Amino acid sequence: MPAAALVESVEEALQPLSHARNVAWWESQVDASEENERRRAETELAYSDALADRDLFAAVEKARRPGSDPLVGRQLELLRNLMLPRQVPDALRARIIELESAVEVRFSRHRGVVGGAEVDDNEIKRILRQSDDPVERREAWEAAKTVGAAVAEDVRELARLRNEAARGLGYRDWFALSLATDELDEGKLLATLADADRVTAEPFARWKTALDDRLALRFGCSTSELRPWHYADPFFQETPVEGSVDLDPFFAGKDIVSLSRRTFEGIGLEVASILNRSDLFPRTGKCQHAFCIDVDRQGDVRVLANVEPDRYWADTMLHELGHGVYDLGYGESLPWLLRSSHLVATEASALLFGALAGSREWLERVSGIGAAEGTELEGRLRAARAAELLVFTRWVLVMTAFERAMYADPDGDLDAIWWELVARYQQLTPPDGRRAPDWAAKIHVAGAPVYYHTYLYGAIVALQLKDALGAAVGGIVDRPEAGAILGERLFAPGQSIRWDRLVEQASGSPLSVETLAREVTIA
Ligand SMILES: [Zn+2]
Repeated sequence: MPAAALVESVEEALQPLSHARNVAWWESQVDASEENERRRAETELAYSDALADRDLFAAVEKARRPGSDPLVGRQLELLRNLMLPRQVPDALRARIIELESAVEVRFSRHRGVVGGAEVDDNEIKRILRQSDDPVERREAWEAAKTVGAAVAEDVRELARLRNEAARGLGYRDWFALSLATDELDEGKLLATLADADRVTAEPFARWKTALDDRLALRFGCSTSELRPWHYADPFFQETPVEGSVDLDPFFAGKDIVSLSRRTFEGIGLEVASILNRSDLFPRTGKCQHAFCIDVDRQGDVRVLANVEPDRYWADTMLHELGHGVYDLGYGESLPWLLRSSHLVATEASALLFGALAGSREWLERVSGIGAAEGTELEGRLRAARAAELLVFTRWVLVMTAFERAMYADPDGDLDAIWWELVARYQQLTPPDGRRAPDWAAKIHVAGAPVYYHTYLYGAIVALQLKDALGAAVGGIVDRPEAGAILGERLFAPGQSIRWDRLVEQASGSPLSVETLAREVTIA
C-alpha cells in the first residue's frame, strides 16, 4: 500500500476508537458509576489493541522511507511512536497493565494513620501546612509514606517488566524507550537538567537558608534539627506558605469562570465553545481534580474543574483553557494525526496562562485590583514566583535522576539513592537512620513513568514564550497580537513539526535555561 493511503486508512480506523475512548473517559470522570468505569476500560482496551496490531506496525515501519511527502512522513513517525511501546508480547503487556491497575487501586484505597485515625491526603496536607506541633507533623509525614512500603515491591516489579518490554524492542531500558518515543534526546535532557541544576543551585541555597531560619523560629529548634516533616508538603515539591503571597482575599466572591473567559477574549482567543461543553463546579461523584480534553480534534474541547473563588482555581482555569485554546488552534487543513500537540508544547501554553493569575498585569487589568495595591504586590509576587520555580526545579531534578537510576537497576538500593538525591538537590536532612521505600510513595513513579521532566521543559518553554511575547508586543494581557502570535506559531502547526523545532519557531530560540536563570536570580 502506498504510504499516503496507509496513513489514511489507519486514521480512519483510529479516529472512532479514539473518539469513543475520550467520550468514555469524560463520562467516567463527571460521573464515577460502575457502568461508566466499565465503558472506560472497554474503550481504552479497544484503542490500545489497535495500536498493538503487529501487521499494522510492520506496514508502518515499511512505509517509513526518506524522500516521501513530509506530512505523510511525519504522520508515520507519530504513528510509530504511538505503536512502538505496545509492540511487546501479549502476556507481558497484560501483566504490566494488570500490575499498573493493582498499584493504582492500592494508592486510591490506602490511608495513612495520624493520632490513631485514618487520614486522607488532604488531611495530611492540612497538617503539614498548618500544624505547629512537630510531633504531629512527623506523624503526618510518616503516614504519607506508608503507601510506599505497601506498593514498593510491585513498583520494582513494574520497572523490571517495563525494562523487559523495552529491551525486547532494542532499547537500553524503559527510560530510554520513553524518551525516544516522546522525541526527547537523552543527551540533551541530561545537559538541560545539569544546566537547570547549575543556575538554580545558588539561588535555591540562599532562599532555603532564609526559609530554614523562619522554620527554626516557628518550631523552636535549631536549623540543624529541621527534618523533612518541617516543610509544607510530603515531598517539599511546593512553595511553603512562608515563601508565597496569599492572593485568596482578592478572589473571594469573584466569578473565576468569567475572569478566565475575559482573559482569553482580551487576546482574541475564543473559549466560549469550550466553556459551554465543560463541567466546572464541584459535585458529588465527580473527579476532584481538573483537566482539559480534546474529544474529537474537531472542536469538541471540554474542561473538567471544581471551581471555587480562590487563586488556585483561577490559575487552574487559565491553565486548562491554555490547553483548550491550543486544541482549538490547529490548522484547518491538518490531518487528524497531526491535530494534536506534544506534551511539552501544550503544557507550556497552559503554564503560560496559569501563571497570569499571579502576575501584577493580570491582577490589575482582569481581576480589578487597584494600581496602588499592584505596585505594593509586585516585588512580593516576583519573589514568590522565583521561589516556586526554584522549589519545582529542584524537585524535578530529584524525580528525573531517581527514575533514571531505577530503570538502570530496579534491584539497586533505591531507598538510599532516593535520600542521596533529596539531600543533594532539595538540601533536606534525611530522618536519622531511616530505611524505607519513600520513593514509592510518589504515585508518578508507578503511574506516570518517565514523565516528570516534561513538566520542567514545559515550564521553561512557558518562560521563553512569555519573554518572546513581551519583546514582540509588550506582554500578554489584553493584547490580541499576543494571541495571534501564539495561534500562528505555536498552535496552528499541530504536530506537523517536531516539538523542539516548534519551540524554536514560537519563542525565537531553542529550549535553554537562560530565561529560568533570569527569573530565579531575584530570590
Ligand atoms: Zn496541564
